[in-house]
Amino acid sequence: MPAEQPTLPVTTAPELPRLGSTVEYEKFLDCVHCGLCTSACPTYLETGDENNSPRGRIYLMRAVTDGRLEMTNTVKRHLDLCLDCRSCETACPSGVQYGRLIEPFRVDMQKAEARRGNDAAKGWFNRWIMYGLFPYPERMRWALWPARIMQTLGLDRLAEGVGLTKLLPQRLQRMQSQLPRLQPSTPRFPDVLPAIGPRRARVGLFTGCVADAMFSHVNWATARVLQANGCEVVIPKAQACCGAIHYHSGADLPALDFANRNSVAFAQDDLDAVIINVAGCGAMLKDYGHIAHEVAPQDHQQAEQLEKFAHKVRDISEFLAELGPIKPTGEIRLRATYHDACHLVHAQKIREQPRDLLSLVPGLELIPLVESEICCGAAGSYNLTEPEMSDRLAERKLANILATKPQAVITGNAGCSLQIQASIRKAGHKIWVAHPMEILDLSYRGEKPSVG
Ligand code: SF4
Ligand code: SF4
Repeated sequence: MPAEQPTLPVTTAPELPRLGSTVEYEKFLDCVHCGLCTSACPTYLETGDENNSPRGRIYLMRAVTDGRLEMTNTVKRHLDLCLDCRSCETACPSGVQYGRLIEPFRVDMQKAEARRGNDAAKGWFNRWIMYGLFPYPERMRWALWPARIMQTLGLDRLAEGVGLTKLLPQRLQRMQSQLPRLQPSTPRFPDVLPAIGPRRARVGLFTGCVADAMFSHVNWATARVLQANGCEVVIPKAQACCGAIHYHSGADLPALDFANRNSVAFAQDDLDAVIINVAGCGAMLKDYGHIAHEVAPQDHQQAEQLEKFAHKVRDISEFLAELGPIKPTGEIRLRATYHDACHLVHAQKIREQPRDLLSLVPGLELIPLVESEICCGAAGSYNLTEPEMSDRLAERKLANILATKPQAVITGNAGCSLQIQASIRKAGHKIWVAHPMEILDLSYRGEKPSVG
């Protein structure tokens, strides 16, 4: 009998993580396919295609995760077209957490693409603009200087008129066309601003990155409103971008790094809340605990620390509603309409608070906006990556806005503000796009807006 051959060790290639493996699978099972979400989905409303609806996308993601469906370019296209506006979450009676499906699934998609050599993070636009410029307010301020000078001298319109801007790469052209009339630069924040009157709370103010560079006047308005409501305002210099730009494009580790930096910057036990005035950043900050569990499930200490931070985060309108706002007295005679930012109304379920605050302003007339809760097409960087659908939704939003014949559109998100301003300007109208805090601040100070 021949001697038994020794068994050779079998070497196998390390198994690559499956698409969808980061998603908590049970969350797929919450969907009972009733279809009640479809009429709330902007991309379904525009295309009428079931694959561009929440139900369709959940089906596609689950089938890919199960290995029943290949991730073809067509499947990817339907998933890429999703705005992650989470309007479907508001509409769903079964409590499906759609954001907790699409967001980790997209992280997996990006990683799979990177393994195949199509690493979007390494492309020039992501590297230099999305990751290298947007998250850093100081760099943004410098980058905006040429635009400021051109706007002051009227050269921006000249460049557009003679078609010079068409020489820019397509995405930069798009960014240039979205650029609003830049406001005069504001002074830097001190470390602390005192409360006016008896102190009712001590809060941290999250100033953001793009928002800090382009909407610092809104940050100042927010700080003054807080002061007027008896809040001492702490503005930590060590704070960083919320990480949404990275996270939503699949770069989850840098996003987690930003999260840790913010939780350290605001780690003061005597802070009653961390206040944010941008809906998209607010939704991200409130999600830090979930993201830590998703990206580094073994690191319980990190998840605990980020959960503690997230627990303190409040949108400014939510915070004032909880605190009990001091009634502003200055009259603002303005006919306005309010657009619900998706990441406020759907992701954070904040609908009534901004309206209630605005209703305190004497003279302000708020006209209801049809489809107020349907996305304007901004959706973070979506207006750069999916320009066609973004424009369709911007036109739809503008038509509804114009029907209210407003002097002002009020919204609580920097991205919506940019998108709506650009579509108003393109259509040749003059309507002020304001943050709720700008209106309240004027009223507290007894000043008038320059429109109306
Ligand atoms: S997501 Fe909700 S509303 Fe949409 S099909 Fe599933 S269960 Fe129905
Ligand atoms: S997140 Fe928005 S675009 Fe995406 S499926 Fe839900 S409703 Fe549609």
